[in-house]
Amino acid sequence: MRFETEAIHAGQEPDRTTGAVTVPIYATSTFAQDAPGRHRGYEYSRTDNPTRHALEVVLAALEGVDPESQGGAVSTASGMAATALIGYLLQPGDHVLLPNDAYGGTFRFFARVLAEQGVAWSSVDMTDRRLLETAVRPQTKLVWIETPTNPLLRLVDIEHAAGVAHGRGAHLVVDNTFATPYLQQPLAAGADVVLHSTTKYLGGHSDTVGGALVTGAPDLFEKLRFLLNAAGPVPGPFDAWLVLRGLKTLAVRMERHGANAARVAAFLADHPAVKEVIYPGLSNHPQHELATRQMTGFGGMVSFRAGGGAPVAARVASSTRLFLLAESLGGVESLIEVPAVMTHASVQGTELQVPDDLVRLSVGLEHIDDLLEDLDQALRS
Ligand SMILES: *Cc1c(COP(=O)(O)O)cnc(C)c1O
Repeated sequence: MRFETEAIHAGQEPDRTTGAVTVPIYATSTFAQDAPGRHRGYEYSRTDNPTRHALEVVLAALEGVDPESQGGAVSTASGMAATALIGYLLQPGDHVLLPNDAYGGTFRFFARVLAEQGVAWSSVDMTDRRLLETAVRPQTKLVWIETPTNPLLRLVDIEHAAGVAHGRGAHLVVDNTFATPYLQQPLAAGADVVLHSTTKYLGGHSDTVGGALVTGAPDLFEKLRFLLNAAGPVPGPFDAWLVLRGLKTLAVRMERHGANAARVAAFLADHPAVKEVIYPGLSNHPQHELATRQMTGFGGMVSFRAGGGAPVAARVASSTRLFLLAESLGGVESLIEVPAVMTHASVQGTELQVPDDLVRLSVGLEHIDDLLEDLDQALRS
């Protein structure tokens, strides 16, 4: 089956008792057994729940896990819960290599939680292959990449990073939240684990928080399943169901997010009030060639510099009517934010610093003309 078909059918056969065509929300904590120790596949909802299970089957299928491989997906209560499960794979003395512009919460977790427990970390500009190669240490157990990054939309070559990690016996984790499996397949490029904040495009409707880890490696999958049950950061069945529903339309949503974002990027590039536009689909993006090779589309995120510094960025972000001033991304509604004082306020003054006139857009699914008119009036305000 192909992507669009799997998104709708994988793990989602009609309900056996009623014929319901959508997977029911199994709001139950426990399952009656036929005899002590003899259950019908489910015992207790932390360990496994049918709604969550359906979500895990479709997530694995969409990330290209071969059903024969005995790899799979685990879904978690948030993207950060997925990151925390990865943290349990590490021991004191291990080292983790992060990109120098990773998601802020990823930094916070490694720098302020795992570092306290003796897991070392460092960060490097991974857009530079040489820097990445020399930053890996003998103790490195994990190379973590995010591509495209937030909010500067820089790309990392997944195949190259996998080679570097594996050359040192380390695992490669790819945060695939921005691209989604529709646009980018990290496991096929050599990644060991894909991480998602399903809060974003996979859920797609800004109505739930969730996360997932997907791997094609049976040993890693077994460990992650064990850890999910042992540590317990599971999503409830309703949240799992919302993501399951969102995934059905992922392909068509990503097509439109990408088409709208490309139009927005082109419009901003021509706008006299805009200093610089960052979008992997623009031919002047420093890694446009890699984007073309590694992704099948360029996604729905566009960043730009308003010129005139922080006050101008704040004015533009406060003047849109359709683009809502909010953190997060990947929903049907367009969002606008100023990373320096919102999503990235905590990293200002570090090497992660983003320009203070940077504006980040999550381009939604509204009519493109309404979006362009809204941006135009905000830039002229
Ligand atoms: C939002 C996000 C996360 C964290 O996910 P939550 O669901 O908010 O816990 C991790 N990585 C990226 C790239 C994100 O955008």
